[in-house]
Formats: sequence, C-alpha cells, structure tokens
Amino acid sequence: MENTCPGSRWPKGSCRPMRCGKNGSLEYKGHLWCKTHHPPTVKAKQAAKSAEWEAEHKAKQRQRLEERRAAALKEMALNWLLENRPEVARELEEKVMQAS
Ligand SMILES: [Zn+2]
Repeated sequence: MENTCPGSRWPKGSCRPMRCGKNGSLEYKGHLWCKTHHPPTVKAKQAAKSAEWEAEHKAKQRQRLEERRAAALKEMALNWLLENRPEVARELEEKVMQAS
C-alpha cells in the first residue's frame, strides 16, 4: 500500500492540480490519505458546511418573514386606528413627532 496521499492540491498560481504526496495517516479504499484529503473527512466537512449554510439561510428566511409580518401588523393596526379611533391615531402621530 502506498503511504503518500493520492489527493490533489492546487499550487498557488498554477492551473493544474498536483498530487498531494504528503505522508498519509488515514486509510481509505487501499490508500493512505493525509488529514486534508481523506475522502470521508472531506465529505463530513462539506456536509457540516452545508448544514451550517442551510441553518443560516433558514434563520434569515424566518427573520425576513417575521419582519414582513410585523410590518403588515403595524399597517393593519394603523389603518384600524385611523378608521375607528382617529383621535388616538393623531395622538400617536404627535408623540412620534415629538420623539424624533
Ligand atoms: Zn493530501
């Protein structure tokens, strides 16, 4: 069994990959791989990265949805006030004017 890593690396400024050639320490499919190129490790890292990305994406989506809901609710509340309690709406408007 070869004991150098068969993974490929891209030297800086090169347009062709080179064989990694580091001494491998992790076995996979009849080869010894370095920690960087060991396929199951690479896969696990990628999976962790995409899970992280997905969680971030979902959190952002949720936040946007909440913001949209809050904005819609504010608009509905204001419209209701203007229709049913215009004096309260005016009072609120005055307060906002004073605050800013
Ligand atoms: Zn390697």
